[in-house]
Order: sequence, then C-alpha cells, then structure tokens
Amino acid sequence: MFAATHRDLCKDDTVKMKENFTKDVTQMFSTHENRNHIFLDTVYFITGIDKNDSEIQRMTDQVVIFAMKQSSWGQRRPMQWVPLELQLSNMRMKNINIVTREDLRNVNMLNDDLALNESQLEDFLLVQHSLGKLMYYNLPGLDKHIIIHPPALVNILRSFVTDERFFPADQCLTSILQAMTMTGKIYKKDLLKIWQQEPVHRYMPDDTIKEFVVQLLIHLDILIIPKGAKQNSSYPDVYIVPCTIKAIRPSNFNLVDSKEERSICLRYTLARHSIPTALAYKIIGTAINAWPLKYEFQKLCLYHKASVLNVSEDNELRIWIEDNRVMVYMVNQKSLLSISPDIAASVQECLTKNIESSLLFHCKSFGRKITSTKVVNLYTMEVGVPCGSDICFIPSQDVLRIDRWKCDKGRQHDTRYLRYWVFDKTQKMCVHGCEGLTSNELEIEPSDKHLVRLGGQIGIKLFEEFFINLGMNKREWESTEYTFAGHSSKGIMSMALTQWRKTKLSKLENPTLKDLTHALRAVKLDSHLICQVFRENTTLFEIEDFNLQAIPSDQHLKELSNQIGNCPLQLGIELGLSFTEVEQSLFSFPKDLPGLVEDILIKWKRKSKVKTIHSLMIALERVNAGGIRYLLELSKKLSDDNIRSGDTVSVL
Ligand SMILES: [Zn+2]
Ligand SMILES: [Zn+2]
Repeated sequence: MFAATHRDLCKDDTVKMKENFTKDVTQMFSTHENRNHIFLDTVYFITGIDKNDSEIQRMTDQVVIFAMKQSSWGQRRPMQWVPLELQLSNMRMKNINIVTREDLRNVNMLNDDLALNESQLEDFLLVQHSLGKLMYYNLPGLDKHIIIHPPALVNILRSFVTDERFFPADQCLTSILQAMTMTGKIYKKDLLKIWQQEPVHRYMPDDTIKEFVVQLLIHLDILIIPKGAKQNSSYPDVYIVPCTIKAIRPSNFNLVDSKEERSICLRYTLARHSIPTALAYKIIGTAINAWPLKYEFQKLCLYHKASVLNVSEDNELRIWIEDNRVMVYMVNQKSLLSISPDIAASVQECLTKNIESSLLFHCKSFGRKITSTKVVNLYTMEVGVPCGSDICFIPSQDVLRIDRWKCDKGRQHDTRYLRYWVFDKTQKMCVHGCEGLTSNELEIEPSDKHLVRLGGQIGIKLFEEFFINLGMNKREWESTEYTFAGHSSKGIMSMALTQWRKTKLSKLENPTLKDLTHALRAVKLDSHLICQVFRENTTLFEIEDFNLQAIPSDQHLKELSNQIGNCPLQLGIELGLSFTEVEQSLFSFPKDLPGLVEDILIKWKRKSKVKTIHSLMIALERVNAGGIRYLLELSKKLSDDNIRSGDTVSVL
C-alpha cells in the first residue's frame, strides 16, 4: 500500500496530485516480481494533524479488508487460549514489550481451570510466533524471554541500524554510529550506551532483557561475533554489523587479472530479479560466521555486501553480491595446484548450506512455506575460471562430465581445478582411473609441505633406496640421519628430502614433483602418493563451534607443548612456517622437545593469519601428534569461564 503524508502542507490541487501519484506508482511497480503483494489501486493522501482525517479512515478500512483475506483469519483456535491472549493484549496496552517466560507462566496460572499446562503453553507460543503475534525461539539462551510486541524489536534495531540523518543529537553516540558504518564494528559497551537513550531503554528496562536482545540479534545474524575474538579476556565484547557498513568495496576487489592463475570461482544465481537487502546481509553474515575476516592495513576487509575471508593460511575467499548473484572467488597465495580439493569442496558445501538456510529463513519470514528439499529450486550454482578480465562459467553438474569447454570468446577452458568445488571428500585414496598430476603440474618445484607430507608416507625401510633414486647417495642419507638423530623417522626423512631439494638447486637444476614420482616408481611405490600430498582432512575443518575460534594464550601453548609427540618439524610446516624457521628452532633447542615445540607454536602465533585453536587442531590432526583433546577441553573451559564471568548467567 502507498500512503503520502503531510497533505496539510500541500498548496496545489490535491486531487490532481493524487491522480498523478497513483499513475506513477502503477507504472513503477506493475511489472514488479512481487506485484501480487502490492496494492496499487490508490495512494492514500493523509494528514497526521487531523484526527478525523477521512483518508486515514479509508486506509484503516482497507487494512481490515486485507487482514480478513489472510489465511489465518477466522481460523479456529483452542478455547483455552483466549484468556492468555487477552492478558497478552492487556500487557501490550500497558506498554510491556518483552516479558520473561517465567512471568508469562505466572500470568497463565491465574487462569485456574483455563490455565495451559507446560506443553500447551509451549505450543501456544510457537503458534503465536508463526502468526507473527509475538516472537519466541525455543532455543537455549533465547527461550527464557518472549517479545510480546514485535514492533519493539524493529524500534530497537532502528536505534543503530539507521540512516545518518536519524543519528541522535548526542555527539558521543553519533560518533559511535559513524565509526560503525565505516568499520562495520561496534563494541558491546557502545551498543549498550546507545540503548540507554530513553526511547530505546523503554523497551529493555533491565540488563537481563538487554542481554537477551543481544543474543537474539546474534541468532538472527544481525550482530556477528568476530572469529578469533580474544575469548580468554572474558565475554567477547565487539560485534560485526554487516547491515550497517557503508564502505564500498575497493575498485580492484574483483579484478581477476592479477589473480588469474590462482583462483577458482563460484556463482550462485537466485531465481528472482534481485537479492533483497536483508537476504544479502544474511548471506554475508553467515559467511563471516564461518570464516575469519581478513585484515588489511589493520582494517577489516568488510564492505557493503562484500567481504574477504581467510579460509586457511594460503587460501582467501572473496564474496560479493551483485543483482541476483552471489559471487565467490577462492584465491590461493601460490598457485591453483596448491588449492586443496578437500578445502574447496568443504567451502562450497558450507556456502551452499548457508545460502540455502538464508533462503529458507527469508521465505519463512515472509510467510512462505517451503520445505528444505525444495529450496534447491530457488538458485543455480555455476563454477568458473578467469578469462581475460571476465569469468567464464559452466553449470556445476557439467564439470564432472567434461574435461574442457570452449567459451564465447573462443578460448578452451579446463575443468580440472573447477572440479575441486564439487570434489567427493569421502574418497580417501585416488579413484580408479586417476591419472595423477598433469605434465605441467609435475614440473612444479615441491613446497615444504609437499616434502613433509611425502616424507610421512614412505616407510623408513624403503626410504634409502628411494633417496638414492632421487640422485642422492648413501653417505648423504647417513649424514642427515646423524644430524637429526633423536628426531622421529618421519622428521628425518622430511629433512633428507629438503636436503635433496637444496642439493639440486645448488647444482642449478630444478627439483620437481616429477623427480619424486619417478623415484617412487623406481622403488615400486604407488606414484599416487603424490596425489595424497594435496589432500586435506576436513572432518575437523567442518566442526562449527564458536569456542574453537578463540586464540590460545602463550601459557596455553606452553601447556600444549608438553602434550605433543616427537614431530616438531612436521607440525611447524603444517602450521605454515618455513623450513628455515623450523630449522632455527631445531638448533636452538637441541635437547628440549617441549621447549622446541613451544618455540614453534609461538612463532606460528606471531605469524599466522588464522591463529585459532581450530587451526592448531587441524595441523595436529594431520601430523597425528596428540594434543587435540587438550585443545578441545581448553575451548570448553574458555567458554565456561565466559559464562561465569558474564554478568547475566541466566540468559546464557
Ligand atoms: Zn573464456
Ligand atoms: Zn592419483
């Protein structure tokens, strides 16, 4: 419906104006995709200073007609609900907006015979919620309060999600809001300051209710707790608010030229003209919930409907929303080959799940019933490769069927790396018919990680022969064994392999993955061991637990170092340190294993982009070093501490 206000200020012929307005809105919206939800027949031309305004009366009548057309109108409801419904509407009249479930239970008990029992009360609340009469979530942390007057939440939101011209007069509050629209961040204490203002405070008269609203806004992905928040300090006190950020993404945000050889793309197209703003923020919000935001020049890479996230040490994800499309780039720091198929597939699965749940949430909020199995019809997914300054896409189903395709520009595109998006992570070894690396890929120099991972897969018995087949000699092997005596055999083999790489480079030759493949074949080992060095185990990667996103303190790393087995070298490399960095530690702590491990962990913490308990667990799992249980318990302990130190235990 359309209503124009301030008729009293009009000097011109209002009948004529109204005619023109009606014509304009009809023209504007007659082809809109939600046309059947729009009432175009008239524009109400109201004045707010006349309480007998006939136009307002006509508008009210129209609203009633609409209400009676709703499917819920006239629906039969249990007789027993009537008293409680009346009590609720009385509370609304008294300007009570949010009540505790306990209070409601007590009010209900006043109805003697007609009082609902506990499970009837629960049903009552859930049905009322689905009708939009109140808001109630039966989730831990949210089920102790009920918003009996939903517009209250809208007004609370408007206190910080609003246009600059509606910012409060108070200079201090205005600067808080200004900073938030620039950085996308708000401190909890600042948010509470904004909520101290009289018009907002009215809705949340005490701290318990304020805490409940904070938790609700987190649940709705309006406030997002940043990943890697310093949890050990007490309750996380800063939030990201994607829907208020005004900063426009930089002009080079989605330039592909520079990333051409290192990125694979994904595109979700929604079956509608555009993505509604609320849905767009929800999609960006769920992504920020899944991965830590990247920092660049000390600033969060969060923009209006766009963001850059760190998926792992070497892989970043760029997401932005354009018309009816969600665009995703996964960029590896080094090369396409360094993208792990497991990680790409895991990212895709997580994004798809988030987009589907955002769509479901969005449809439900607008009263459309849709089942989880039907949600796949609401979007299509394509995978793409950079092509000049553009990206060429093909449907994700096609990527497994064909090896290459010719695009509109007449170029041939390979589907090899695009298959990573839909890679079947459950297969542990290569599938039958795996042809291994391409001849181009085999020419690549193996990285530190490749060598360590390969070193971990060759048995010590065959290693000497393998090493000699790489063109090294027995003496060189024995000398490595001697230098690193006391280390695990896997560690020594990895050291020997770097020795090989160093020797080749010093002879001005290129050490390649092909050399390693040939040597594997020569000792009759499976050359697909090379395929395995590119795989990742993503079981831990997919655990969605906020507590695992905490940054461990130095003291925790010290405690952890006492629990880790003899694999400092492999651990260091898996954590993203270079051989040189690990080697320095090895020589600084020749006899003190825990000291050595601690040194490596501290180096990691200083250098890493993703210094969370979660990243540590993934590396420990890979090298099978122990310590995972310690970290899991640590994360639980940190969250318990937070609950104890939180001021409002009851709502947590
Ligand atoms: Zn192309
Ligand atoms: Zn293979």
